Amino acid sequence: MSVAERSAREQRLANASALVDRCRKCEIGSIRTNAVYGEGDACAAVLVVGEGPGETEDAQGRPFIGRAGQLLERMLAAIGLAREDVFIANTVKCRPTFDDGVRLRNRAPSPDEMANCRPYLDEQIEIIRPRAILCLGAPAAKSFLGPKFSISKQRGQWFDGPNGTPVIATFHPAYILRLTGGEVEATKRLVWADLKALRTRLDAPEVSPVAEEPVPEQPGLFGS
Ligand code: SF4
Repeated sequence: MSVAERSAREQRLANASALVDRCRKCEIGSIRTNAVYGEGDACAAVLVVGEGPGETEDAQGRPFIGRAGQLLERMLAAIGLAREDVFIANTVKCRPTFDDGVRLRNRAPSPDEMANCRPYLDEQIEIIRPRAILCLGAPAAKSFLGPKFSISKQRGQWFDGPNGTPVIATFHPAYILRLTGGEVEATKRLVWADLKALRTRLDAPEVSPVAEEPVPEQPGLFGS
């Protein structure tokens, strides 16, 4: 990757982010505190895609921060990737909310909101040209693979995504954090298997490895 190419990609992402900052295509565009365009390496091998910003992300304008973000960072570290090595985005760039009469609560993005916002995600894919897309949770996976996608049955499998970009899905870190008892370790083992599949693809001869760190045999299942 030449310096000029990297610079061009960074500039395009900055321009697109500025556009998103002004976007009011959906009602949530006027309710949000900050748009959350996404962040990371403009030349990343992996594009991580979640559902949408939550309260903390909305407040700070950054994706996957707080406890779910910390768990994501541990998940990535388990396969030798730092947060800075990937690009992190969401299917929608504004926090979807509803008013429960007391405060704004998170909700899933509507199909219309996801459709309105999709060009921004498609542009991110076109600019970054990742070698793989890692979907976190069913909504992100369904946005690429259709409504019949089953996260419990089809996570960890590879699919053709936009422009033939390989897509793989695993459980969302926020979902893992909501689990209790034996479900926690059992789900982390599934996630570890999915992450190993991602690492294996990145290490394959036809793609350049991203990280120099060896993948540990026992990742400690990303801590607690
Ligand atoms: S969710 Fe996306 S399309 Fe809708 S207002 Fe926000 S940036 Fe615009």
